[in-house]
Amino acid sequence: MIDVTTFHKLSYGLYLISSEFEGKKSGYAGNTGFQVTAEPSTIAISCNKDNYTCTIIEKSRMFSLSVLQKDLDVSIIGDFGFKSGRHIDKFEKYEFKTGSLGIPVVTQNCIAAFECKVINQVDCGTHILFIGEVITAEKLSNEPPLTYDYYHSQYKMLAPKNAPTYIDPDKLLDENEKQPTDKSDDEYGDEHICIICGYTYDPEIGEPDKGIMPGTKFEDLPDDYTCPICSAGKDMFKEL
Ligand code: FE
Repeated sequence: MIDVTTFHKLSYGLYLISSEFEGKKSGYAGNTGFQVTAEPSTIAISCNKDNYTCTIIEKSRMFSLSVLQKDLDVSIIGDFGFKSGRHIDKFEKYEFKTGSLGIPVVTQNCIAAFECKVINQVDCGTHILFIGEVITAEKLSNEPPLTYDYYHSQYKMLAPKNAPTYIDPDKLLDENEKQPTDKSDDEYGDEHICIICGYTYDPEIGEPDKGIMPGTKFEDLPDDYTCPICSAGKDMFKEL
């Protein structure tokens, strides 16, 4: 028997992994980044073959890994984790620098960054495990890092479908991993969760920065409403 919620007991950080090939930049948010050896220093990442960045890394044979900080604007995870570089330029919106390998290194909301040259790769079916030798390692701030647990418990976000750690949200709901909160009440209607990224629309709070005032029921949101994190449409939301 496999209780899928057991996988949330594994501990990770959250990283932005970037690369560039022939002028095309690409990056994604991922939790699978870890040091493999000390001498030489190597880091491994597990990258979904469907990720545009995976294709770019295979060609460039390089990647950067930026460590996200605990307190951040989650839209950076939404843009890097839930949107494809095939359709949007993620580097237009966020601060980055060009590293010594000539590839983008995201600096916004990040506390450290590594640049790596791929020295080996393992085909793992849906994913490729890239092992990179660390060429540069730089601390960017002394803020604490974001952990995967904090991402789940505080930001209430899920793993993107392409993540190695993806779990079907229905299974999580079945396992009561995502508990309905007692904020839902009849006055404003129920909270609704985006089944793509885990963002929860709370009618008591609304989204004032988008002109959606507190007290706006989910049902009363405009038809063209989209998730502020992953841009999924209203039909991708499920009542909590
Ligand atoms: Fe979403």
